[in-house]
Amino acid sequence: MMMAFAFQRSPSAAGGSWASSPGTRRSMRSNRRSDTAPERALRSALHRRGLRFRKDYRVDLAELRVRIDVVFPVRKLAVFIDGCFWHCCPEHGSSPRLNNDFWERKLRTNVERDARVDDALLSAGWTVIRCWEHEPVEVAANRIQEALSLA
Ligand SMILES: [Zn+2]
Repeated sequence: MMMAFAFQRSPSAAGGSWASSPGTRRSMRSNRRSDTAPERALRSALHRRGLRFRKDYRVDLAELRVRIDVVFPVRKLAVFIDGCFWHCCPEHGSSPRLNNDFWERKLRTNVERDARVDDALLSAGWTVIRCWEHEPVEVAANRIQEALSLA
């Protein structure tokens, strides 16, 4: 029993060592395609306002294929809920201390892809709203509602 316990507690059993801090590991776990806590909170807020939308919605554009967190397809409004770590939020997007080259490359790739996605959507006539995961959910919902009333 003791050996089994020790094995379960070893670093490799906890998911490997390349994530250099508990915070990093938490961020990595929450990098799922949909259903992060900030996404769920925003979707609930939009539902409470009577807004109906699609989630995790794929759009095939000329240049690239895009997955959008929250979409109002008829209004061509695309909403992304960006994690502070993965999308380099100016307030919380500090890069991890270890494996610096790896992380810098990875995060820079994310940011560049975000820009390409925005450009492709905009040139296809979409409106794009990006929310940070740290943004108060009602503030984000206000921005979306405002964009819908203008669209
Ligand atoms: Zn942030």
